[in-house]
Amino acid sequence: MASKDVLEELRETILNSMPPKAMVTAVEFEGPEIAVYSKNPQILIDNEDFVKELVHKIRKRIVLRSDPSIRIDPVEAESTIKTIVPEDAETTSIYFDHNLGEVIIEAKKPGLVIGRNGVTLKEIAGKVLWRPVVVRTPPLESKTVSQIRSILQNESELRKKILRKIGERIHRPPILKTDFIRVTALGGFREVGRTSILLQTIESNVLIDCGVNVGSTLQPFPRLDMPEFELDKLDAVIITHSHLDHSGFVPFLYKYGYEGPVYCTTATLNLMTLLQLDYIDVATREGNLLPYSPKDVKKMVLHTIPLEYGEVTDIAPDIRLTLHNAGHILGSSIVHLHIGDGLYNLAYTGDFKFGQSRLLEQANYNFPRLETLIIESTYGAPNDIMPAKKDTEASLVEVLKNTISRGGKCLIPVLAVGRAQEIILVIEEFMRRGVIPTAPVYIDGMISEATAIHTTHPEYLNAELREKIFHYGHNPFLAEYFVQVDNMNERTDIVSGDPCIILATSGMLQGGPSVEYFRLLADDPKNSLIFVSYQVEGTLGRRVQKGLKDIPMKNRDGKIEMVNVKMQVHTIEGFSGHSDRRQILSFIQKIRPKPERILTCHGENSKCANLASYIHRTYRIETRAPANLESIRLK
Ligand SMILES: [Zn+2]
Repeated sequence: MASKDVLEELRETILNSMPPKAMVTAVEFEGPEIAVYSKNPQILIDNEDFVKELVHKIRKRIVLRSDPSIRIDPVEAESTIKTIVPEDAETTSIYFDHNLGEVIIEAKKPGLVIGRNGVTLKEIAGKVLWRPVVVRTPPLESKTVSQIRSILQNESELRKKILRKIGERIHRPPILKTDFIRVTALGGFREVGRTSILLQTIESNVLIDCGVNVGSTLQPFPRLDMPEFELDKLDAVIITHSHLDHSGFVPFLYKYGYEGPVYCTTATLNLMTLLQLDYIDVATREGNLLPYSPKDVKKMVLHTIPLEYGEVTDIAPDIRLTLHNAGHILGSSIVHLHIGDGLYNLAYTGDFKFGQSRLLEQANYNFPRLETLIIESTYGAPNDIMPAKKDTEASLVEVLKNTISRGGKCLIPVLAVGRAQEIILVIEEFMRRGVIPTAPVYIDGMISEATAIHTTHPEYLNAELREKIFHYGHNPFLAEYFVQVDNMNERTDIVSGDPCIILATSGMLQGGPSVEYFRLLADDPKNSLIFVSYQVEGTLGRRVQKGLKDIPMKNRDGKIEMVNVKMQVHTIEGFSGHSDRRQILSFIQKIRPKPERILTCHGENSKCANLASYIHRTYRIETRAPANLESIRLK
């Protein structure tokens, strides 16, 4: 097999560039990385210079592993680790992956397991001769995170096989020289929802995003039925972020036999698994079409290769991928592809925010090289200008303060991922400072689970928030005001209790606990309903926002009752995780290097078209607003 030759060549290069005392016993593909097994403990501890040199020479990512014969017995290794790791690290579990030769240490304070400049980790590696990997124990318990970790733990042998197969495919010798590049819009162009882009060269096929349109029963899925798209030729799937309109259709690919990798950040993997499983639950409850099952989600988890921002990774013989922060939600990425060894560079923003939020840094705008940029246009129209963050927050605080002071309750329907956590941070700050009177803040629906995933990954949060959590030990997500609602019966007590704030899904009063809270709170004029996100036409949220007063609603027994809306209804704009028109244009002005061509997507028809023509006129850059099913040759 041709791919074996490449491995053989790599093995030779690696062996030749190392002294014999390195005692290399095996060289294997492990997804995009090359795993080098050694029998010499010293090499495993002091490997920095040698690995650096090797990486430079072969331009591949290297992971160094110990040969099974030298690893210390796990029982003994575990007690050794316990004596090395300080108690303050609060280690919660230690387990051994015999297939990869890794010991996974879960701790509440991973920094203390790593030690200054990695000194503690080195000591562990040197003494037990297993490769230590440290992961954070979620400060708030997360079912999703432990589910994913146990899948990877239990299926480690299968996972190793999958990685080897992926590695062989990535490192196959290219047949032809890459001389053309084209992208095909499979969904989410001149519309919002079901985003999917196919990128093709003579050698490779890559799918970027694979979403569903949750609001549409007519066209819910991307056009994978195009002749251009062949599942068995697909090299890789790249997911920018977890929202279902970007990730919701990925398990479907596995249902129909895809065996390749998904690349995304670890935060995206955790959040998209949560959202996909919920998507299945909702579809089952409402009797909708089920495109895949939890089994397919599990397959996706086993095939996902998490990447960090800035990590350059080979994903096909002629394509290198790097993810950059997109500032939209936790783990969201701008995708940068380097194609054909110097031939061409493409960046796709996904959903992005070019402005700092309470949660995240603003999107990255510096790239090593760039010819074409694909940019979202959700708020791309000239009048899509949002109020300043400070004013937006002040409006929210004002309503919360007034409502609680008059003895009322505030209901905020929110999206579970992103918006909810942003609002939590605002409430925490102003309640701590005494601006909002102290009251319980109830968190209902998937928000708690999504928040728990946020607390698992503080490394993705913005510098200010990280500083608070790490250096001052003040994690706002863990503040005492926040109360998780675990079952339906608690809701009755909450609505009949003292003044409070309730954050509940869904964001548009379409299903989820927010609907029930609304039914129970609507007829008291002391209460407030606060919309913090866009209300789509046709949803209950939209009708209430427009002033509908008498609404027939089903109660818990399934009987229809009339709900009379006497509570105050407020709409607060500006909490969006998307760039508004000004931020989109400022991003285009600042982006380096300046792209030759810009394609617009992810916006209503008129917004994609308007933004494309404005950019062309203003910045003299070639632009297009492709429609779904259009292919564009980039090179
Ligand atoms: Zn999004």
